[in-house]
Amino acid sequence: MQERQTKQKQIIYEALKTLDHPTATEVYGYVHENAPSVSRATVFRVLAGFASGGRALELRSAGSEVRYDYNVQPHYHARCTDCGRVADVMAEGLPLGGLKVMADHGFEVSGYSVEFFGTCKNCKKA
Ligand SMILES: [Zn+2]
Ligand SMILES: [Zn+2]
Repeated sequence: MQERQTKQKQIIYEALKTLDHPTATEVYGYVHENAPSVSRATVFRVLAGFASGGRALELRSAGSEVRYDYNVQPHYHARCTDCGRVADVMAEGLPLGGLKVMADHGFEVSGYSVEFFGTCKNCKKA
């Protein structure tokens, strides 16, 4: 039982890494192909567990499905408003100024999210 759960978690984590900011539905699609016995409910439960356990980020954005990110290091996201694809933006400096200001105001920051919107390369071509 324990071993089965570990296996399920492994494949779900693998889906997160392979799929690049997938939704839970996309994760389920991947898992289902590779391990058909894993239920949709399990996928959702494990993803929520990853998020609360700090192994993955939940990316919430108004009007779209929650996406998951295995990269828990501070980084930003660029979301294409046409196809919904989310890409990582690695840039330095942006939140740090903000974090310092918050600290100066006695606000304890437990997280932040920065998201850029626009049209991705593929959609621009189309
Ligand atoms: Zn796009
Ligand atoms: Zn990311």
